[in-house]
Amino acid sequence: MESILALTHVDESGSLTKASLEIVTAAAELASRLGASLTMGIVAPDAKTAATTPAPAGARLLAVTGEAFAQARYASDAAACEALCRAAQATIVLAPTGSRFARVLAGVAYRLGGVIDTHLTAIGGAESVEATRWFYRQRIEGILSREARPWFLLLEAGTHAAFTADSADAQVEQVPVELPALRTTVSGLRAPAQGAQTIRPDAKLLFVAGAGWTKKQSDGKVHAAEAGELILGFLRLAGASLGSSKSLVDQGGDGQPVLPFLTHMNQIGQTGATPRHAKGLSTCCHGEEPHVVGWRFIGERRAISLDPNCGWTRGKADVVYVADAFEVMAKLNGLLDAHKG
Ligand SMILES: Cc1cc2nc3c(=O)[nH]c(=O)nc-3n(C[C@H](O)[C@H](O)[C@H](O)COP(=O)(O)OP(=O)(O)OC[C@H]3O[C@@H](n4cnc5c(N)ncnc54)[C@H](O)[C@@H]3O)c2cc1C
Repeated sequence: MESILALTHVDESGSLTKASLEIVTAAAELASRLGASLTMGIVAPDAKTAATTPAPAGARLLAVTGEAFAQARYASDAAACEALCRAAQATIVLAPTGSRFARVLAGVAYRLGGVIDTHLTAIGGAESVEATRWFYRQRIEGILSREARPWFLLLEAGTHAAFTADSADAQVEQVPVELPALRTTVSGLRAPAQGAQTIRPDAKLLFVAGAGWTKKQSDGKVHAAEAGELILGFLRLAGASLGSSKSLVDQGGDGQPVLPFLTHMNQIGQTGATPRHAKGLSTCCHGEEPHVVGWRFIGERRAISLDPNCGWTRGKADVVYVADAFEVMAKLNGLLDAHKG
């Protein structure tokens, strides 16, 4: 019988991260489908957090706690995960593909003589485990199954519902960890230069800016400053995440007018990111294939472009507004502002 471990960790606020809660859902589903035992492993700075964590009924709860685990660091995180896996005697380990676990779990799998697959989007199979992931920039879907154990499965965020339950009084077993010599000291976090975090994976809406924002407009002039204000205003009012076309983020290197808050991290597409959001709104972008590839997992797509023959109007968006995005976004921001007030 498989022994399933859901590996989770808390964020700065002391709660389990949303990606961790998604792992709990995925692990509970898998355990019930396979009739397997379920253990939840928590990495947290203090024992109180671990004790108030929502857990699936019947699951065994293990925790590694201590100040050394307050922040991400390879040596301490790898030791914590290894200890949890050994204590759970896990054959299948589910964990979120976040920056914290993604960088340590290949090493942990090696220490345990196991195998690992990353960037998974689904786990199926009635009697065996079948893990799904996309290859070649989300164009080919592969289904993997393995005999080797323990098998580490890192799931992408946004692929499962976050687990919710009343904080149960489950008994938490503390797992001791022998820490190796810690050569890395975490001195703090440094925020992006502009102070505005524009990439928000948990946002309902992805707002995408295209190169049109910095092109000459009908008056023959560029309005980059106004574009920046409209875009940042919308992000603030709607709580949206910001994406960009490649043309727009490339412009800085070409010496053209730029939006200073955009980096290549914002780029959506074949050579950029493939985020998951319920809705997406593209503005001043042509909707070319290499860009639209990155919209694969966006639920509902809308676009605003001046060009009635752009790629979006050719079947790539659910709704296209053939209109001036400067005018539409100014109006939209005004409505959102009024609604807020
Ligand atoms: C191998 C390869 C990989 C690539 N990977 C990516 C990728 O990952 N991501 C990506 O984005 N691209 C990628 N590209 C580039 C892609 O093909 C396009 O060149 C790029 O997406 C175009 O960006 P854009 O639509 O913002 O700019 P443009 O094509 O210049 O379009 C600008 C649009 O803005 C509209 N516009 C202008 N002013 C306004 C206004 N006031 N209101 C409304 N609309 C307005 C115009 O009508 C026009 O349609 C890749 C290309 C290759 C060859």
